[in-house]
Amino acid sequence: MTRQTLFAANALLPDGWAENVRLEVDADGNLDQITRGAAAGAATRLAGPVLPGMPNLHSHAFQRAMAGLAEHVAPGSSGDDSFWTWREVMYRFVGALTPEQVQAIAAQLYVEMLKAGYTAVGEFHYLHHGPDGRPYDDIAEMSRRTIAAAGASGIGITQLPVLYSYGGFGAEKAGEGQRRFLNDPNRLLRIVEVLKDSHEDDPQVRIGLAPHSLRAVTLETLDEVVAGLTGLDPAAPIHLHIAEQVKEVEDCLACSGRRPVEWLLENHAPDRRWCLIHATHMSEAETKGLAASGAVAGLCPTTEANLGDGLFPAVDFLAAGGAWGIGSDSHISVSPIEELRWLEYGERLARRKRNVLAGEGADASLGHRLYSDALAGGAQALGRPIGALQVGRRADFVVLDPAAPVLSEMPAARLLDAMIFAGNRNPVRDVMVGGEWLVCEGSHRDERKVLEDYRAVLRTLLS
Ligand SMILES: [Zn+2]
Repeated sequence: MTRQTLFAANALLPDGWAENVRLEVDADGNLDQITRGAAAGAATRLAGPVLPGMPNLHSHAFQRAMAGLAEHVAPGSSGDDSFWTWREVMYRFVGALTPEQVQAIAAQLYVEMLKAGYTAVGEFHYLHHGPDGRPYDDIAEMSRRTIAAAGASGIGITQLPVLYSYGGFGAEKAGEGQRRFLNDPNRLLRIVEVLKDSHEDDPQVRIGLAPHSLRAVTLETLDEVVAGLTGLDPAAPIHLHIAEQVKEVEDCLACSGRRPVEWLLENHAPDRRWCLIHATHMSEAETKGLAASGAVAGLCPTTEANLGDGLFPAVDFLAAGGAWGIGSDSHISVSPIEELRWLEYGERLARRKRNVLAGEGADASLGHRLYSDALAGGAQALGRPIGALQVGRRADFVVLDPAAPVLSEMPAARLLDAMIFAGNRNPVRDVMVGGEWLVCEGSHRDERKVLEDYRAVLRTLLS
């Protein structure tokens, strides 16, 4: 890559909107100089307002291909559908997926993410082994497939191989449907190690680790993998599903006498390396404790709505200064706008109020608050230098379409409000990741071929 100089009439910098901004991108794809109030000169002029690309901190890529297949009451069922009946559909779907199919599905998903304005993804990866539960010859085969899909699409990736050892609290034996997910701490750390060796010098890839949930590990195995990961990389991200379902809270209480977040805070002192996915069901003390820990709450409002999880205590968590970011999780929606909009709308509906998450300060832009918080929390959770137009960060950004009616004549201070709350058309025009243009005028460079491969996979899966 050669050095690039770009010019934006409006750009969202860490302290707010700035005018006439010159962005210099070095040959490695990092921002190395940013000048406000600059002249355009010979710089390439960007077509519209520029935002940092949004990190998507929680993804199960293969689930993109089953989006829409669980929105009917199953014949012969009682009609009492829940997260747990959805999970059975997911287990059946995952049963026969091949590495090639997983890669094709992930590639399609990542192209869609980029077009929607996500420029990095946290892949919470639990599908490790063959259909009979035996590991592939390369133990990291499936992880490599999602990393390859990310590489081909251009999105940055934090790959989080998942430790899944048990079927429920109290080291309950795993079920048949979970056989492709199972590892002990040793084998999981081997996957982490080989992936780290392969991607040590790649600025687009970070390797972390994810104990699946408190259902799937014990205190001992959790300690073991966290210590092992720390030995390999003391700053590597650790993600964990927590307190998504009421039943999960009840089972945790029955097994340990503690609620899930309470248990984790007491037994494991999560810190800034940690990202707790969902954290939907928390007491007031847990909410404050999690906010004070510095860990990120990974929120997935569209999936949490789709699965009937419940509402995250966003008002109290934000008031306590908690860090948070967004993920598209099951990918029934691939849009940062929709995640942010529904985070606020859930609160409006529950409280019968407006501008609930705007925080302090008269005239504060709600859209700006939501977008900035999600950038910061997402970057922290993915453990990469992303999420801001700032010297030393990756050149990951989104150029909005100035011709989008919803953004027309909008002053910069209201752009994010309009983008998040006032439209249904994707306003993303161009997307650069790590200094490379991936999306131009709304199209990804490889979208046709990627879609062709994806359609072929779906034909096989749905036949
Ligand atoms: Zn998840």
